Amino acid sequence: MRMFIYADNAATTKLDVDAFEAMKPFLLNEYANVSQPYSFSRKSKEALIESRKIIAECIHAEPEEIYFTSGGTESDNWAIKGIFFLNQKRKIITSKIEHHAILHSTRAIEQMGGELIYLKPTKEGLITVEELSSAITEGTSLVSVMLANNEIGTIQPIKELSQLAHKVGIIFHTDAVQAVGHIKIDVQDLGVDMLSASAHKFNGPKGVGFLYIKKGTSIIPYVDGGLQESSLRAGTENVASIVGMAYALKKNCQCIDTNINKVRELENNLISLLDIAGNKDIIKNGGNNTLAGNISLSFKNQDGEALLHRLDLRGICVSTGSACNSKNMTISHVLQAIGLDEEYAKGTIRISLGKDNTKEEVYYLANELNKIVMKQG
Ligand code: PLP
Repeated sequence: MRMFIYADNAATTKLDVDAFEAMKPFLLNEYANVSQPYSFSRKSKEALIESRKIIAECIHAEPEEIYFTSGGTESDNWAIKGIFFLNQKRKIITSKIEHHAILHSTRAIEQMGGELIYLKPTKEGLITVEELSSAITEGTSLVSVMLANNEIGTIQPIKELSQLAHKVGIIFHTDAVQAVGHIKIDVQDLGVDMLSASAHKFNGPKGVGFLYIKKGTSIIPYVDGGLQESSLRAGTENVASIVGMAYALKKNCQCIDTNINKVRELENNLISLLDIAGNKDIIKNGGNNTLAGNISLSFKNQDGEALLHRLDLRGICVSTGSACNSKNMTISHVLQAIGLDEEYAKGTIRISLGKDNTKEEVYYLANELNKIVMKQG
């Protein structure tokens, strides 16, 4: 029987039904502009305050440290450009494996005369303390390293990296878009000054996210206009989506261990069904410490694009690399940076399982993938 299997949860996730129900009143009835002083805006105002509080609690921050944005891309742009525009003479350090929301922001800065250093990952996709240490020089204003990679799932040693940056007074930002709602996040323990997140990656709505900015961090606004978000991010607040984001994040955080265990078990099932351990023609990328369910597989002498389409014909959604990259036939910047051999890199797909996937789906997926790779289907 043909099934429909969504195994691209790193690209986006399904909106949580309860989050949708929480949003509805603010789409239909409580539509007042939060900035208006009349009593009709009271419920929207309260919802905004409550959502900020919920999100702050989920990442161990203060509500005043949460700034709502239109998603991960905007949060990343703001973190990078907001620091650069404060002092354009200073250097920024990031890594070669960041999402394009970071890499294209830093490219824009280079075109404006900014100086950038790109850290090289190990072949597991890890940014080491030694690598950062050798790149830091006087005049560095910002280090930005992602918490978990979207293509290969590697979780970075953010606490150690931020400690190193802080020793010499450098601001530390992390793009945590893939991690928030999926692993426990404590901004105080991580020691970061800024952290980007996006609701649609944790069962919230699309087009909304937040940037955590630690109290006392100097940054300039990225979106100019009205006085919203403490005059740092202008624009009428997207109350319904913010409510949905807070609801979805709280729900995911409440069951984070259960979700991780479930998804890790599905991941292990898939890996054993594909017999990766005993097969030198398949590499699992990303090293040992990866996000549960983020499975980047490279098949020797295969075409990742063709694998994706063959799986699609069988009702299975996966990705060839990062979602934003899927139209690009060239080897992704992440696979290039980890130095994966071309004969494997070209045959790479990313399967990203989520909490709603089932054992039956994983069995079907593995079966179909095995048939395709063996050219039997
Ligand atoms: N950063 C990472 C690591 C991502 O995976 C993504 C989306 O794929 C983004 C940033 C961009 O987030 P958004 O889709 O909310 O703009």
